[in-house]
Amino acid sequence: MAFVSSGYNPAKPMEGRITDIGPKDYKEFLPPVIAKNFGKWVSHEILEPGLLVHEAQSGDKVYTVRVGSARLVSTELIREACAVAKKYCDGYLRWTTRNNIEFMTTSLESAKAMKADLNARKFEKGSYKFPVGGTGASVSNIVHTQGWVHCHTPATDASGTVKVIMDEIFEEFTHMRMPAIVRVAVACCLNMCGACHCSDLAVVGFHRKPPIVDHEYLDNMCEIPLAVAACPTGALKPGKTDLPDGKKVNTIIVNQDRCMYCGNCYTMCPSLPLSDKTGDGMIIMVGGKVSNRISMPKFSKVAVAFIPNEPPRWPTLTKTVKRILSVYAKEAHKYERIGDWAERIGWESFFKKCDLEFTHHLIDDFRDPAYFTWRQSTNFKF
Ligand code: SF4
Ligand code: SF4
Repeated sequence: MAFVSSGYNPAKPMEGRITDIGPKDYKEFLPPVIAKNFGKWVSHEILEPGLLVHEAQSGDKVYTVRVGSARLVSTELIREACAVAKKYCDGYLRWTTRNNIEFMTTSLESAKAMKADLNARKFEKGSYKFPVGGTGASVSNIVHTQGWVHCHTPATDASGTVKVIMDEIFEEFTHMRMPAIVRVAVACCLNMCGACHCSDLAVVGFHRKPPIVDHEYLDNMCEIPLAVAACPTGALKPGKTDLPDGKKVNTIIVNQDRCMYCGNCYTMCPSLPLSDKTGDGMIIMVGGKVSNRISMPKFSKVAVAFIPNEPPRWPTLTKTVKRILSVYAKEAHKYERIGDWAERIGWESFFKKCDLEFTHHLIDDFRDPAYFTWRQSTNFKF
């Protein structure tokens, strides 16, 4: 057995273990006031941008200061966040699903002092370390995927695109002057590990070219049957080819007409890369939401079929995002999410007002019986 040599005793599997599988029970980490009032909260209110209060049945109040953070942060920044939590919140803080950091305290004075302290902490060049905001009718912190930093199939970067978009619309994060909350998401490929299907505005990276086959190394690097089986459209089949030196090798043949550029085969076989400088780019999707307010939850729809990758500042992307958001901010009624607004004025008007080209790639033709038969909403029909 593999680990016996390193001291593992199969008869006593737990002996000497210093770790366990999976995260610890989250209740161990709750601030005492939250543990005391767990499940007994009666109301909450946003006092000012970035500052919330929750009240429990017992009369206890918790004040929360929310700050935006990047998804990838340095240990120095985490240490500084912990020092703030120690100073104002008895050492408790939490990260939200949209990469915000929330500091909770039971005193309003302490919360206000903490908000001022957080806003005053800047990096050497003057940018905020802990920008307070992201509450109510604002642009929320952007939830995103790994991008070029980590994942193997991205068609665009995630951290870079998020940074440049946020630089453009930062004022909307710190103020609450949009018609309703605007949830923005970025996913760097169609796997969408970033909630793009239900965000008000989403950027999704996509490939437009089939994989390039590296015949020379493929048979040595990959299990050919596994790679062939990974293709959802049956575009791959095993085959043989002649290398320039006359050597005959086992390889994979790609039926390019069947490929939908999903990248599944590259996940199984590194000799089938499909990243491409001109082929890769981004889609902008709009109008998704999970809320039941005004209308049922909706999937996002494609609004811009292709934007090229233009690192490091992605000017076409940021200009287009800003244009959509500023027209929405000017035209929508209070409480209308982007999808509600587009449906009220009609999608044709949405494209006209946002100065977006309408192409046949944008026709939403996905229809499934579930659309009509499942109850998707708390809006009851009689
Ligand atoms: Fe990787 Fe795609 Fe997820 Fe991006 S969205 S992290 S490329 S799987
Ligand atoms: Fe098949 Fe997707 Fe690979 Fe194309 S990219 S060959 S569709 S697995």
